[in-house]
Amino acid sequence: MEISIVNYIYIHIPFCRKKCLYCDFNSISFDSNVAEKYIAAIIKEIVAQKSLISKIKTIYIGGGTPTVLKKDLLQKLITSITDNYEVEEQVEITIEANPESINSENIENIHSFGINRISLGIQSLINEDLIMLGRIHNADKAIEALNLIKASTFKNLSVDLIYGIARELPIPSSSNEDMLLWQDTLLKIISINPEHISLYELTPEYDTPLYDAVKSNRLFMPDENLVAEMYYSAKEILEKFGYIHYEISNFAKSGYECRHNLNYWGGKDYIGIGAGAHSFVKGVRYSNMTDVSGYITAIENKMPTIIESAKLTPKEQFNELIFLGLRQIKGLEINRIPQNIFKEMEPAIKELIDYNLLDIKDNYLRLTYKGLILSSYVMLRLIL
Ligand code: SF4
Repeated sequence: MEISIVNYIYIHIPFCRKKCLYCDFNSISFDSNVAEKYIAAIIKEIVAQKSLISKIKTIYIGGGTPTVLKKDLLQKLITSITDNYEVEEQVEITIEANPESINSENIENIHSFGINRISLGIQSLINEDLIMLGRIHNADKAIEALNLIKASTFKNLSVDLIYGIARELPIPSSSNEDMLLWQDTLLKIISINPEHISLYELTPEYDTPLYDAVKSNRLFMPDENLVAEMYYSAKEILEKFGYIHYEISNFAKSGYECRHNLNYWGGKDYIGIGAGAHSFVKGVRYSNMTDVSGYITAIENKMPTIIESAKLTPKEQFNELIFLGLRQIKGLEINRIPQNIFKEMEPAIKELIDYNLLDIKDNYLRLTYKGLILSSYVMLRLIL
């Protein structure tokens, strides 16, 4: 008999009101009929995991925009977990949301279902930026949503912001205007006092309208020095206001670090439910088909939904350890690296320490201040 091992669940809700111009996530336009069938399929997948899931510590409902779902569907989804599994009393249940799908009524509904953390995609408080990103909310709507959540029964709010936003004309690295607008956005967000803030650098991902616009010189990405300054300036401001920098892109008030993601970065097992969701169980990584209709049909016909599955080799496990462990500011515990692999890596580690990109403290290998913005280079230099 299979032993119950997984305590962390990710549920993918792939619906959004409109696709953002930079988005390469698995998301499609919201359709209430499809959503109804999709939730029925998801519930079947949740129930089918009985042999793998044990005392649930965190649930992360991501997307997409899960708050586009009607309240009865969201309630059914949560109930399918609480009816079928033991859930720890201190469980962290996060839902991703966007400002346009937040109102005073649905906030309280969502909270009454047991969801206790909201991650809100604000991205910017500059209307021109929001238009450029293809977002459907404006700055006023973003502030309204933030204030509604802060005034509600929710006590754990996370805000996503994007920096390094593209422009219609090249931005000189000496330009101070973008930096001032970015700092102003940060200060406005801080004044609302969310418990957690995530910062993401805008990246033109392949096969997105943003990528095409940058490639054809209709839009220009900012100079990389300016982007680095924006990152370090945000770090300084957020730390000054009491936010702890605990992961490359994440800051939190003490005790409000995202537990779900901490486990993910810590290399723990998790189960992903829904179209395109990934799972990692007992050293095996597997993923569901991304196509929403295909996923629904497969579940309805009791067909497999998994399209990829691979047991990680020791080398892949080590690379994963580097990619996930070094994302955390405290770093990667050296004892977790097999000795023979550590020996193999030693010349690269020494070189990165000499370049002041890595250091070793209290038996943890970690990025230095300078190494934070060059994390991709450091990781690529270390992987086998
Ligand atoms: S709201 Fe998020 S998931 Fe939806 S289209 Fe925009 S970036 Fe993608």
